[in-house]
Amino acid sequence: AVKKSGAGGYHYYAAGLNENARRRLALETDLRHALGRGEFELHFQPQADMQTGRLTGAEALLRWNHSERGLVMPGDFIPLLEESELILDVGAWVLEQACLTQRRWWREYGQDLVVSVNLSARQLDDPLLVDRVRAILDRTDVDPHRVELEITESSLVHNPEEAAATLEALKRLGLSLAVDDFGTGYSSLSYFRRFPVDTLKIDKAFVSELTRDPDTAGIVRAIIAMAGSLHCHIVAEGVETLGQLRMLRQYGCHWMQGYFLSRPLSVDTFDDLVRDGHRFPVAGDGDSAMAG
Ligand code: C2E
Ligand code: MG
Ligand code: MG
Ligand code: MG
Repeated sequence: AVKKSGAGGYHYYAAGLNENARRRLALETDLRHALGRGEFELHFQPQADMQTGRLTGAEALLRWNHSERGLVMPGDFIPLLEESELILDVGAWVLEQACLTQRRWWREYGQDLVVSVNLSARQLDDPLLVDRVRAILDRTDVDPHRVELEITESSLVHNPEEAAATLEALKRLGLSLAVDDFGTGYSSLSYFRRFPVDTLKIDKAFVSELTRDPDTAGIVRAIIAMAGSLHCHIVAEGVETLGQLRMLRQYGCHWMQGYFLSRPLSVDTFDDLVRDGHRFPVAGDGDSAMAG
């Protein structure tokens, strides 16, 4: 109600708000102008093959360069975007930038990498989503097989029939589909057979417990085995240590992403990796035979 009460009403109500709510309202106001002012940018976090350390692609992660606050992280503004239609325009911008960047890696460095883009539940519900995506693919001339859309478990479960139809349509455009933060939504793996999913991203909460908690290790092992039987690719998120890497590799995990390899990087820094055909060191003591 406060939001809709117009500029005058806003100031009136704001006087009675606590600091958090005031900050939030100010952010919301600024967010409405952020796209037009060119304040968004994408960072890219490398993904690599666990066996060889070869760079396979990157996840595009949104950052907001606020004129006074500096770099604002997605946790502080994505939820606000998702409360409004703003996420639709920003989401389209993210996808277009990611596709343009993928094309550039190919054109300038001859590297055929996969770019992953997060899709919010609100975008999945947008009846124009498939048309918007098709237009972006056409405009950027990207190879859709090298573009992966990440969808969280929770955005699939609230309306599974419609979500399945949308995902089928996106698959027909040639895109890859990933389930993000897998394991946090309490749905069973067999549930995903009804969705045309190519990749499961194991949530970092599991990865961080892996070497400490045998129960978690057992769950992760089972997820990887079952995903294999569903012909899904597995990406482990949030890999921070060599111990985690080794365990995941032993369980048959394919790809990884996490601070062990690299934090999300600015476009320029990521370009340096691509240009050099970077290989990440993934073989620790005693398993050097695994790096081919
Ligand atoms: P996500 O899609 O699960 O992305 C992975 C998050 O984990 C990123 O946080 C990344 O920086 C962080 N991360 C990666 N490796 C590690 C690690 O080894 N340890 C730890 N502790 N963290 C790691 P970030 O960039 O802050 O993004 C947070 C979330 O915001 C994303 O989670 C995603 O849900 C959302 N998000 C980011 N960009 C977009 C976007 O363009 N659109 C939408 N709809 N959501 C986005
Ligand atoms: Mg993601
Ligand atoms: Mg994730
Ligand atoms: Mg997430």
